[in-house]
Amino acid sequence: MTETRVRFAPSPTGFLHVGGARTALFNWLYARHTGGTFVLRIEDTDVERSRQDWTEGIQTTLQWLGLDWDEGPYLQSARFDRHLEAAQQLLASGAAYECFCTEEEINARHEARKALGPADPGYDGHCRDLTPEDRARLAGEGRPRSIRFRTPDDGVSSFTDVIRGEVTVPWTTIPDFVIVRTSGAPVFYLANAVDDADTGITHVIRGEDLTDTTHRMLALRDALGIPGRPTFAHLPLLVGADRAKLSKRHGAISLEDFAARGYLPEALANYLGLLGFSLPADESGAAPEIVSLAELAAAFVLARVAPSPAFFDYDKLNWMNGEYIRALPLPDFVHRCRPFGQERYGDRFDADVFTAAMALAQERATTLADAADTAWFLFVPEEEFQIAPDSLERLQKTERVGEILDAVAAHLEVCDWTVEAVDLRPVLDKLAIKPRKGLPAVYAAVEGSHTGLPLFDSIVLLGRERSLRRIRAAATRIG
Ligand code: GLU
Ligand code: ZN
Repeated sequence: MTETRVRFAPSPTGFLHVGGARTALFNWLYARHTGGTFVLRIEDTDVERSRQDWTEGIQTTLQWLGLDWDEGPYLQSARFDRHLEAAQQLLASGAAYECFCTEEEINARHEARKALGPADPGYDGHCRDLTPEDRARLAGEGRPRSIRFRTPDDGVSSFTDVIRGEVTVPWTTIPDFVIVRTSGAPVFYLANAVDDADTGITHVIRGEDLTDTTHRMLALRDALGIPGRPTFAHLPLLVGADRAKLSKRHGAISLEDFAARGYLPEALANYLGLLGFSLPADESGAAPEIVSLAELAAAFVLARVAPSPAFFDYDKLNWMNGEYIRALPLPDFVHRCRPFGQERYGDRFDADVFTAAMALAQERATTLADAADTAWFLFVPEEEFQIAPDSLERLQKTERVGEILDAVAAHLEVCDWTVEAVDLRPVLDKLAIKPRKGLPAVYAAVEGSHTGLPLFDSIVLLGRERSLRRIRAAATRIG
């Protein structure tokens, strides 16, 4: 059996998005499952839109996610000569031809045909059968010159997709397409087909949006005399809650965004691994959801990838991230939160206080950024401390709030400074007020929010003086 060779072939025209990351992950999982090779290829044929820093960013991000590659990165731009050689081969065999049309001419002819009948797909084959004399004359006029691949006039193009089954389109929907631009640069279809063939790719696993391009790549391979076909698997589209293609409107989509918002790479990788793929049910009757990359790789088969669009559920990701956060050893969790704290609190950052606060935050946090945010009340300059509007309203609506705050202050003035001694429940008990009714107001007064870090620990961390000052200040705002 031939060894499995898969590739991830991003275009370096921006940050790596979750869709691309999911494609990379599924390739990696397939390679690791089969003991094959995972190749990274940077498709920088679009020289104007490709940038070196995106190329580097993609690699850093893949590493962050825990995906290592075995070969590459191969830069497509380094192989232009090879692509052009293939184009020459196609010209020589008559599978491709030179086209001298300007874009305006192509568009004008297209519009004219549209006026006469149903729209056709674009180029009309105008330059298909030029004589050598025609070509010499047109070249002499200084016209643009591209190379087009000649597609069949009738019949169908078909391939079998592991996920989608038989995919068939009539050739009439695919016009003769450009494989070398007027600038002399090879076009993506050609470079992609040649590179896959030259690097012995056995399985092409990529996004559903590329399904249509496969017909062109297969036709190019055939015309170049490349034997055999890779196995194709086009992964389901990622959609948001409204079933529309996932985009910025739905939330974070670049991996940099997820990192900046404090998602753990292992949680994100786990979540992405289940977008379109699921593990078989275990003894509990349900498919396991919290799974490591190694467990995903062990279970990964293309036959279990569903063809229907995969719903990107931010709530579920948040839940999963929280699960991973709680599974971290405390020092590791603090270590990962630290850059967020330093970034937020700058000069006021204090490692000991922050560590103690994160120990309190771990139990409830959804993301590292959230966890760092909840420590805000410990680092804010006193004159900038403010109670969030909804929490202030809640405080003001609390029954007998003046009495509560006074009694709490009286207690904190004299009690020992330990979490046990700071416990305010007996104080409320004496007033015959339930903790559930009275404590949110104290949370708001001390932490600026009625849903902050555990209260008694927070008061101890904040210190007697600042806690008392805030509680007294809140007492003046109860109207
Ligand atoms: N470079 C293409 C893209 O980023 C992907 C090509 C492929 O996977 O075949 O959309
Ligand atoms: Zn032409």
